[in-house]
Amino acid sequence: MIRTNFKRPQRQQCSSEPEWKWPAFLGLLIVQLWAAHACVFFAHEFAHSFMAWILGWKSNPLALNYAHPTLTVLLIQLGIDQNVDELPIFASHHGAQAAIISAAGAVVGNALLTYPLSRWGYKRARNAGKRGWAMFWYWVCVASVGNLIDYVPIRTFTDATDLYQDMYAVERGFGWYCVRDPDGNRSRVFHFSH
Ligand SMILES: [Zn+2]
Repeated sequence: MIRTNFKRPQRQQCSSEPEWKWPAFLGLLIVQLWAAHACVFFAHEFAHSFMAWILGWKSNPLALNYAHPTLTVLLIQLGIDQNVDELPIFASHHGAQAAIISAAGAVVGNALLTYPLSRWGYKRARNAGKRGWAMFWYWVCVASVGNLIDYVPIRTFTDATDLYQDMYAVERGFGWYCVRDPDGNRSRVFHFSH
């Protein structure tokens, strides 16, 4: 019989913090999911709003449409929006500017701001052994990527009819008409249904 002298592998302690108990972890998880979504959401809406202000279509970039403070608004911010009226922008033949304002939410707010910030924050927290902050930045990263997916492909290919906001405004304003024709109908190539 061969005697082996195995040692049980030592548990790796990656962090300087004490181990978390499950209830504390779940509580922190819920708070962080809420906070991460709110950060990414407001960065997105303020990016629309500030771009409209820079281009001269809004006098106060901080004036979002904050909606009435219902439980839904407080929990997931549904109902709050950028408070930019794209109709007069299109009507005055400044469609490209409406497109820039519409694209700014995902491109500036999320792709250029919250996503790199989340990667930087996660790296810093990991190097400092701060698990709580690492998890927070992880959820900011998830929410940022989620926001980008929400625009392309989801809103690009959904059947919403608002031609003056979001991806339709980007197509219409730049005159690209990749997925839609000028009337908002899905072009043949992308007409998957029926
Ligand atoms: Zn948006």
